[in-house]
Amino acid sequence: MKERIDEINEHLIYSYKRYPVIFDHGEDVYLVDVNGKKYLDFGGGIAVCSLGYSNDVYKNALKEQIDKGIHFSNYFYSEPLAEAAKKIAFISGTDKVFFCNSGSEANEGALKLARKYAILHGHEDRHEIISMNKAFHGRSMGALSVTGTKKYREPYEPMLPGVSFAEYNDLDSVKALVTENTYAIIVEALQGEGGIYPADPEFIQGIRKICDENDIMMICDEVQCGMGRTGRMFAFEHYGIKPDIVTMAKGIGAGISVGAFAARSEVADCMVPGDHGTTFGGNPLAMKAVCTVIDEFERLELVKHADEVGRYMGEQLAALVESSDICVSARGLGLMRGLEMSVPVADYISRALEKGLVLMAAGANVIRFVPPLVIEKSHVDDMIGILSDVINI
Ligand SMILES: *Cc1c(COP(=O)(O)O)cnc(C)c1O
Repeated sequence: MKERIDEINEHLIYSYKRYPVIFDHGEDVYLVDVNGKKYLDFGGGIAVCSLGYSNDVYKNALKEQIDKGIHFSNYFYSEPLAEAAKKIAFISGTDKVFFCNSGSEANEGALKLARKYAILHGHEDRHEIISMNKAFHGRSMGALSVTGTKKYREPYEPMLPGVSFAEYNDLDSVKALVTENTYAIIVEALQGEGGIYPADPEFIQGIRKICDENDIMMICDEVQCGMGRTGRMFAFEHYGIKPDIVTMAKGIGAGISVGAFAARSEVADCMVPGDHGTTFGGNPLAMKAVCTVIDEFERLELVKHADEVGRYMGEQLAALVESSDICVSARGLGLMRGLEMSVPVADYISRALEKGLVLMAAGANVIRFVPPLVIEKSHVDDMIGILSDVINI
């Protein structure tokens, strides 16, 4: 294995420190490596593979679409595109959707749409955006500019001008940054990469109010916390608010790369032909994935399931915190949870992997749990068993 990995690394840009595992395939909610070793998957390909790896309805729909055509181009319509747009608008409570290929692209598009809205509403001078410390919005230059982790941004400065960072869950710090030139506030209702921090209701609702009062676009980045992950279709639903623009990706294709941003007509119609584009976005294969994922969510009642199993996982993680000195706190909603430890988690994650459990980190001290949404309570028990073993409880 070690030799093979050295060979592989010869031709991969070293932008990831990968674990020394070569996966071959997935089965149900397990991954299997090239030696046949099975791993219970609590990473879900980073909150992507919500249907697990053995959903035949999804796989067959994709196979059929591959036979019909993978890509036609955005100069034309296709039925999968039409259907996916209607479904995404419906589940997100918006009217119109733009499809792209990733979360970063979804946020890039959202920033452009917000800017366009400002220009068309008499605010040509507005060029400032407020984001949050610890926020994660992607790695492309625009999305990176609003990402709240300095070390990701610094090597690539200068960034987009006019971006400032407030403290998450500190509404006053947001208010202090609002100026007459602010055109957008971008926020995750539950911060993912930053360490699994759910928003306080007053914080999200307060941002909504600031945006309403100042004609500022509120962008909710639902790339990770959306698509059923938190036990609601979108995390902003926990707060009884609606963003002006919602961005999504990870879970909406369940493994096929798809991103999207969506808004009500008044906002969405600010973009006209020529304003934005993508070659691959909205291709029929990706759109078939989106349609089938949404249908499967309904058929399997996955949002409700994520809520139920997620609550159970929350209880089990809270119990772990009670019984271990090095487990500091358990946070999250639905099947998006974090366990903060008083020590770096990397070694624990490696040891869990050796014992057949895939976990992910969210920052140095937080283990993140974003399993396929189809996991059952028994899988949570298995996970807790291995984790307890690894942290010596
Ligand atoms: C992963 C993520 C992104 C970036 O998505 P990519 O598909 O990696 O470009 C943006 N926002 C949030 C909240 C994410 O979790």
